[in-house]
Amino acid sequence: MPDDRQPPAWPPPGLDVSKPTIARAYDALLGGGNNFAADRELANYACEHIPGLRESALENRKVLVRGIRHLAGEAGIDQFVDLGSGLPTAQNTHEVARALNPRARVAYVDIDPLVHLQGRAILAGDDDTTVVTADVREPETVLRHPDVTRMIDFDRPAALMLVGMLHYLSPEIAGPVVAAYRDALAPGSHLFITSLVDTGLPAQRELARITRETLGEGWARTPDEIERYFGDFQLVEPGVVYTALWRPDGPVDPGDLTPGERLGMAGIARKKR
Ligand code: SAM
Repeated sequence: MPDDRQPPAWPPPGLDVSKPTIARAYDALLGGGNNFAADRELANYACEHIPGLRESALENRKVLVRGIRHLAGEAGIDQFVDLGSGLPTAQNTHEVARALNPRARVAYVDIDPLVHLQGRAILAGDDDTTVVTADVREPETVLRHPDVTRMIDFDRPAALMLVGMLHYLSPEIAGPVVAAYRDALAPGSHLFITSLVDTGLPAQRELARITRETLGEGWARTPDEIERYFGDFQLVEPGVVYTALWRPDGPVDPGDLTPGERLGMAGIARKKR
């Protein structure tokens, strides 16, 4: 029987490493080890053109941690569907959630097969997590996937995370797709979104353009547009704001945000009972 805990051969057989992927380029931005030359080249190219891009990726990870702490703590959520979860990195969703609720269950979903390979290697033997390879643009497939339904009881409140993910969904697709996920959630559930934002700064649109050109999808949205993806869910304080301003651990002056801190916004909203 194969031992899942062994790290996969590197690069894993059958994996096309000649072209960058979103997950691996983001891993390269974060300084991780799950990437290849093409991904590092793209990450470096994007950093040369977008001031503060690396910092923005790190900010996104930080708000992910603060958001999960709110969800697993104050909001009492014990099941998480992490859509576009990315490659394993420091402070994965299950680790942050379990620090507050040891029984937290997590379904990780990502389109990149390397996420499944690396995730399983790390999570083998953990019966309260699953890693599924699927396209978030197909909500029916994701929501009915046997590994997802084994892990998540959609009749109970859950957190659905689209963290660093919404900007890879084109405008035509994002509306109905996010609505389908909202509809599948029980009252008391939460939706957690972070996204590349468009507040009129050239770097935001340039990042969307570079991402679209090199990775196929990349869309910056206005704060109002991001807010609309929450539908009739109730935004928790402080609403949709730059990630560094979403419940920061210490005081942050909105006037002092760096260019990197002005690339993304975050928000969490709750489905009414
Ligand atoms: N959520 C993590 C975070 O915020 O740190 C990772 C964000 S990373 C920028 C975006 C992730 O979304 C990548 O891992 C990528 O493979 C995944 N992704 C992009 N489009 C997707 C799709 N259509 N279906 C599933 N995953 C997708």
